[in-house]
Amino acid sequence: MNRKRKTYSKKKSNKTLTILLLVTSILMTAIVVWIGVNDWDLNKTLKQIGIGTEQEQPIIVPEEEPDEQESPEDEILPVEEEPDEEVEEETPAKVIEKTEEPEKEPEKNVTPVKPSKKEENKSNTATPNKSGYIEGQKLPDEPTYINGILLANKKNPLPSTFAPGESKQARAAFDEMAAEAKLSGINLTAFSTYRAYAYQVTLYDRYVQKDGVEAADRYSARPGYSEHQTGMAFDIGEVNYEKHWASNSFKETEAGKWVAANAYRYGFILRYPEGKEDITGYMHESWHFRYVGKDIAEEIFKRNITLEEYLGQN
Ligand SMILES: [Zn+2]
Repeated sequence: MNRKRKTYSKKKSNKTLTILLLVTSILMTAIVVWIGVNDWDLNKTLKQIGIGTEQEQPIIVPEEEPDEQESPEDEILPVEEEPDEEVEEETPAKVIEKTEEPEKEPEKNVTPVKPSKKEENKSNTATPNKSGYIEGQKLPDEPTYINGILLANKKNPLPSTFAPGESKQARAAFDEMAAEAKLSGINLTAFSTYRAYAYQVTLYDRYVQKDGVEAADRYSARPGYSEHQTGMAFDIGEVNYEKHWASNSFKETEAGKWVAANAYRYGFILRYPEGKEDITGYMHESWHFRYVGKDIAEEIFKRNITLEEYLGQN
């Protein structure tokens, strides 16, 4: 009984072994065939089966994706730089235009403000303006005498109430001079002498309305500042030659040359000589003479100085 059981069990175990071998060989063949189908590439085969390759794939893909993104970025950058340059060319121009416009606008706003501030400062610090006047200066109560000589200029105005009329001494001296000039065939006349304060107001206002303050200040004195209010200033011209009156052409005429050379002998000085504008405050006026008396006139003439220099007021 035992042998039969043994043989029976041996037969049974043999069958099991055979089945196992068959299954194993079939599996091995299938694997070999599978690998062969995959070009004998073990990795490829494993990938298809899905063992351990799933982790590699996501690593490779993200590595490739950034690589692809970097290179296009490098390629895009120059492309983007080109439009950037075009944009930069446009934007700087736009920026300059924009910055220039607001710069110009404030400049326009600032420049007129700055001079006005300077003028305000000048008036505060008693500094004369372009025309030599101290803005806001009040006329004095008394005229200015230096060494007994009446001085009237842009720094030393006269009181509005100062109304001496035409100087009798000056008139007498002019008549004497005119008489002598007549002997040389020159017929002199004083076409403007004493001017009252009120008249200068009318005159100056008329000039300002016509040409504006700045222009008027160049050729006309403000009320209180005119030497004609002293009664000793004589505007001299030639009878029948009005075209040369109060004109630069007077100095070119025979009459003008004669007066310039001889007036001092009668106590008159050329009040606003050429090249002395900074001292006198007025442009050269070949027709405007001031009576100061013979002695002083002679010294001023021979020293070739102005009344301001003579009085030490330059
Ligand atoms: Zn004059």
